[in-house]
This record gives sequence, C-alpha cells and structure tokens, in this order.
Amino acid sequence: MAGRIREDDIAAVRERAHIDEVISQHVTLRPAGGGSLKGLCPFHDEKSPSLSVTPSRGYYHCFGCQAGGDVFTFLQQIEGLSFTEAVERLAGRYGVQLRFAEGGSAPTQQRGQRSRLVEANSLAAEFYASALADSAEAAPGRQFLSDRGFDKDAAERFGIGFAARSGEALLRHLRQKGFRDDELVTAGLVASGTRGAYDRFRGRLLWPIRELSGDVVGFGARRLFDDDRVEAKYLNTPDTPLYKKSHVLYGVDLARRNISSGSQAVVVEGYTDVMACHESGVGTAVATCGTAFGDDHARLLRRLLLDHDEFRGEIIFTFDGDDAGQRAAMRAFQGDAQFVAQTYVAVEPEGLDPCDLRLSKGDAAVRELVARRVPLYRFVLRNVLSRYDLDRADQRVDAVRDAARLVASVRDRSKVNAFTRELTGLVGVDIDEVRAEVRRASSRRPRGQPTTSSAPRTGNGSAPVAPDVPDVRDAHFADEWEALKAVVQYPHLVDVSGLDAGDFTHPTLSALWSAVTAVPLPTAPDPRWWQSLTTDADEPETARLIAGLAVEPMRTVTEPDDRLVSALLARVQELTAQRQVEALKSRLQRTNPIEQVSDYNRMFGELVALEQRRRALRDRAIGGGVA
Ligand code: ZN
Repeated sequence: MAGRIREDDIAAVRERAHIDEVISQHVTLRPAGGGSLKGLCPFHDEKSPSLSVTPSRGYYHCFGCQAGGDVFTFLQQIEGLSFTEAVERLAGRYGVQLRFAEGGSAPTQQRGQRSRLVEANSLAAEFYASALADSAEAAPGRQFLSDRGFDKDAAERFGIGFAARSGEALLRHLRQKGFRDDELVTAGLVASGTRGAYDRFRGRLLWPIRELSGDVVGFGARRLFDDDRVEAKYLNTPDTPLYKKSHVLYGVDLARRNISSGSQAVVVEGYTDVMACHESGVGTAVATCGTAFGDDHARLLRRLLLDHDEFRGEIIFTFDGDDAGQRAAMRAFQGDAQFVAQTYVAVEPEGLDPCDLRLSKGDAAVRELVARRVPLYRFVLRNVLSRYDLDRADQRVDAVRDAARLVASVRDRSKVNAFTRELTGLVGVDIDEVRAEVRRASSRRPRGQPTTSSAPRTGNGSAPVAPDVPDVRDAHFADEWEALKAVVQYPHLVDVSGLDAGDFTHPTLSALWSAVTAVPLPTAPDPRWWQSLTTDADEPETARLIAGLAVEPMRTVTEPDDRLVSALLARVQELTAQRQVEALKSRLQRTNPIEQVSDYNRMFGELVALEQRRRALRDRAIGGGVA
C-alpha cells in the first residue's frame, strides 16, 4: 500500500483547488445569493437545481439526494476515485508536489490507477499527434484532413494523430515511459493476442476523446489504408475504467463553455462534423462516439445547459434526412417529455453532413443549418403526414388518425392543444374532427401508462440516504441541526461553553458536535478552519454531513448575529432542561412525599431550580429571535 500523503500537502491542494472551479468542470453553476452557487446535481436525476456550493467554506451539498462533501469528496463521487487518487489528481492540476508520510515521493507503480491510465492516454495522444505531423507514413492521414478542409492548425487544435502501421510503436514508447503491458491493456491502448501485446490502433487517423476536464480518456480511429485488416471504418477505445461510450461526447471539453453560455448544444454524427462546426463558428457541437445518443448523454448536456432555475436550453440534433435519421427522431420523441420540448432538429435539405456542407458551401452554411432548426415534434409530425396524399379525402382521414396517435402520445398535456391546432392547419380539416380523433387515441392508450408528466419529477427513489442519519425535517432534530449549522457557518460568533455532546439527542448529531468543537473555533471567518473539519476525508459520511451543515442556508431571513447564534444554542439547552424537568417530574410522582420526605423535598428543590433555568434559556432563545 502507498504511504499516506502528508497532511500539509493535502491542505496545500485544498487551498489551491477552489471547489467552485472543480465542480464547474462538471456542472454549470449559477449564483444563488448569499455567496452560494447552484447547479443540477450530477448524482441524481433532476430538472431544477438542488446542488448548492458554498465556495467560501469549501463545501457542496445536494438538497435532493443529500450528497455532499468537500472538493475531494466531489471528485471521489463523480469520478469513482479513491481519496488518494482525488488528492493526486488535484495536486497535478494545481501544481502541488506531493510528499508521502512514509518516505520519498510517490513511486509511480503505487499511484492511483486512474491517474496512470489518464497519463498513458495523454502520452499516447502526444505520440500520435507528432507522428501525424512528422512521419512519412502518415501522409494519407494528412491528405484525409486536407481533403475535408482542415489545415495543420485545425489538426493541432483538435490534437489529431496517426497510429503507425508497425503495430508496436506506441507499445515500445510507453514501455520506455515506465508503463507495464497490463496497464496499457487496461487503458485500451494495447491489445494482447497469442503472440503478445500489440498496438490496438494501427495505420489509422486518431481523434483523442476527452472528458469535461480535458483529460484524454480514449480515441476514435478512422481507417485509412485499403489493406487495413480491420474492415470497420471507425474503431473506438473499448470500455475501460476511464472510457464509457455511453457517457463520452466528443468535443465536450471544447464545447462546454459555449454550451452553458449559449444555452445550446448541437449533436452531430462524427468527429469531422464536430470539427467542421467548431471551425465554422458553431462552438457548441459534440458527437457521440460509436454509439447512439442515450440517457447518459442527455443528462450530461442538461447539466451544462442549466439556465437559472430551469432547464431552458436547446438540444439540436443534425439528423440525416434519411430513414435512419427519422427513426432516431421518432425514438427521441418517445422519450422524456421535457427533453422532447427542448429538442430541435436541423436537417440539411440535400442530406449533407456539416463537414461536407462546410466544404461545399462554406462556414456560413453550417451556421445557417443550425439556425434553421425546427422543433422535434414538428419534424416528426411532418414525417408522419408525408406518407399520405393530403389531396384525397380518404387519405386525409387516415393521416389525421395516424397523426392523432402521435399527438396523444405527448405526455406534456399543455403541448397537446398547440399540436392539435398545428395538425389541423397542416392537413386542412375541421379542428373538432382532429380533437375528437386525439381524444379517441388517448382513450385507446393502455392502462397504467402515464398520461402526463409535465410536473418535474422529484425523488426518484434512488437517493443514497445513509441509515443512521436523522431526518432534519423532524421538528425535534431540526433545532439541534440548526444549532450545529450556526456553529459551522458562524464559528466566530459562537460561545460553546454551556453545551456538550449530551445536549444532542441523536448519536450522529452528538458525534458531529464533538467533531466540530474538537477544533478550536476561529475568532474570525477562516477558510482553514472549515478545511480542518474534513481533513480526515477518508470518512465520506462525516464530510457529507458537515457539508450539509456548511451549505444549507439558515432558517432565519436576516444575516445571523451573535445574539441569534446564542439563541439557537440556548434553544438546544432549553430542550435538554425540558427533558430533565419531565424526568424529574415523573420521579416525583413515583415518590411518596410522606414516607420519603427528604428525597421528595430535595427533588422538589431541584425541580424549581431546573424550571428557572429552563425559563431563562427560553427567554434567551426568544430574545435572540428563536421561538
Ligand atoms: Zn443530488
């Protein structure tokens, strides 16, 4: 096992890796007041933002699925990294040299697997790119690009490369860099056959595929030579620990900023189409890599498209006008209602893809193609109607019946009226006829199928809730939770002397109190104090709860002052006194005032004092604005 990273190095990474910057790599964040930021949670499926980030305290928290923690927890959760790997990753990105507690710097073999695989892929990308630029063998690759209107600058911008035909060039290069064959097989760069390891890509033009952060995770490879024994025009990296084809989008690293600022994403079909779009000024283009556009791709784009409190962006597909493209559109139409409402289709009348379009008609034509988008439902509706001869009365009846089924399948009922009117106009019949047909189609729907889902889905039942977490909405725990929030958020205003862990009635809350007050409270807001709370981030559960305390807004409307904070703590003490009063009263009732007169009198005296204390605490709570 690798030695532990030194605590002061972890602290240095934490100081430099701003949590809002790191989370922004994956989620578009918008200001939400009070110094907090909001975005769509990447850990559960949602359409309005529940993820809150408080950069000044260094924590994030999701009000939907309760995910939360610090900058390391975030990377651990979203990338599936270990704590050490998360620290290593950020150290690399922010230029912190890590030292290990048990002697020396990290031996390369012991570093996290993910970092190794990313490094191997990055080195491969560099190696391939220089081969494309320099090697004689790569001439057909350079020709391929120039035939499609891409110059040397474009090739460099997209990091395009060439894999030598020999079959061992990359393998030898990476062995020399200290990689083992099994690592290269895991990275998807090398395959192993009966005669040993060999380069997976041979004699092909390569596009490095990056994730949001810009890390290279895999490659797309195009056939160049007629004698290539692999027939497939395109090959991709197989699924690896880094590369999941259902999640990756080619170009997303370049497009993410444009997607979020322009509230638009354009989905095209191939690598050269992504390049053509970007070169033409459509900087929002991405493409799936060797697979159809799926739910995970949609989720990824949605997180980038978040506009204020609603998902309002447009996703534009450049479907081919052909059958496959139309089938893809029909399939998309059966999907999620809100997704459909935001989905547009851009079809080039002559069936040209963006790359060919740019080549034959120039950059402006590509921009126009995107600008001429039509809503998906209209595209599908016209498709259905195109099968009929609308000049014939009997065909009009059939067309309306067919199209009504489509309109009735729309789950967002608010859209049905508009679609019905549009259908009426397109076919040229009486609107009542169309309405009746849509009603009939609706009533034929199988039972149990949802008929409307325009309301946002909340809580899909998969929220990871730890077993021992109190429900903070329970009024009883809410006061304790609120007091803990006050301590974590306003530590410089807190006087913890009158309170101890015993004032908290749930073991988890009690433990949190101990954890939070174990570190001396700062006399002024101090980022280092917040960081110290989760220094032992090996316990993600503690980090998660502390993040909730640090990020959740206080219940009060005004900015808390020392009186309010003191009142919140007094409220918790008052509840303790209340419980003691009740316990004492119960004992008094069970004590005979004549036979146990001295016990009785002593307890009675205690009760009077306790009641006084309880009232004083109550006054302090109310005086500070806490009822
Ligand atoms: Zn969530």
